[in-house]
Amino acid sequence: DAAINRIAAGEVVERPASAVKELVENAIDAGATRIDVAIADGGKTLIRVTDNGCGIAPDQLPMALSRHATSKIDGSDLLNIHSFGFRGEALPSLGAVGKLTITSRAKGQDAATIRVTGGTTDPVKPAALNQGTVVELRDLFYATPARLKFMRTDRAESQAIGDVIKRLAMAEPWIGFTLRDVSGGSEGRVTFRADAASGDLFEALHTRLTRVMGPEFTTNALKIDAEREGITLTGYAALPTYSRGAAVAQFLFVNGRPVRDKLLTGALRGAYADFLSRDRHPAAALFLECEPDRVDVNVHPAKSEVRFREPGVARSLIVTAVRSALTEAGH
Ligand code: ADP
Ligand code: MG
Repeated sequence: DAAINRIAAGEVVERPASAVKELVENAIDAGATRIDVAIADGGKTLIRVTDNGCGIAPDQLPMALSRHATSKIDGSDLLNIHSFGFRGEALPSLGAVGKLTITSRAKGQDAATIRVTGGTTDPVKPAALNQGTVVELRDLFYATPARLKFMRTDRAESQAIGDVIKRLAMAEPWIGFTLRDVSGGSEGRVTFRADAASGDLFEALHTRLTRVMGPEFTTNALKIDAEREGITLTGYAALPTYSRGAAVAQFLFVNGRPVRDKLLTGALRGAYADFLSRDRHPAAALFLECEPDRVDVNVHPAKSEVRFREPGVARSLIVTAVRSALTEAGH
């Protein structure tokens, strides 16, 4: 019910950027190749995510808003339920703390729309839409004003939203992303744009990382492509000459999703130990892939932490692969 949804919302939705993360992940899961995000006032008054993915059939719309009615777990996933996360929580939670409208059209179906305000759902209505889904979240936390107090400035919230989108964009180079700030009304201002990249994984990734991290990174980056005990590591790590005073340009992805973990900072420190002084931090974007049961990516629904079953394997894979790339490059 509405009270439970509001409590769950506190876990899933900490701030506008966490709402954006959930909505963009849904668009990715829906197989979209274009995802457009519009925000106003740091996402506090408006977050709108438009995708060209598979859409939702009219009779499925109420389902999408009910807790744990996810379409993404089948019986075979139950063993790995943790690796699939806190499923079926996002939309009901957002509907409990904001004014949520979902308009969607699935292939061969009519377009339809559903609205939920402060946990109260209106009936499904016909709508006009060509393809995909538009999720609009207005006035986040209007139903829980206490949480509004924890919001930072519009500028800080916009920045956090930009960071979330850039991280997801790094993991999905074949998807085109735009972020627009429509605070001033009308078309708004594009604050981030990355067109869908083409080519194989490394080509697409190189293009996308150039866009997100800048050409200074990619022109100084070494390709990483390694495997150990069933864990694969791909991505780019920068030459020691391209380093920073803080660990701000270190990005780790586990099974396609951005994570924040000290594992990477520690492993990179090990890999660059002979090449960098301790006050310099190397830049890298690395992608680990393994069987879902070897890593718990959902220690907490809103925090992108990971827990490896064998952290030593992941760590030494990164250290060895990056160090040997540096050695090969003549360092
Ligand atoms: P989860 O993503 O964990 O399944 P959500 O609450 O985020 O839970 O979404 C509920 C359901 O709504 C999804 O399982 C999916 O079926 C549907 N859905 C949500 N967003 C989209 C979207 N952009 N495109 C297609 N289906 C969507
Ligand atoms: Mg979801």
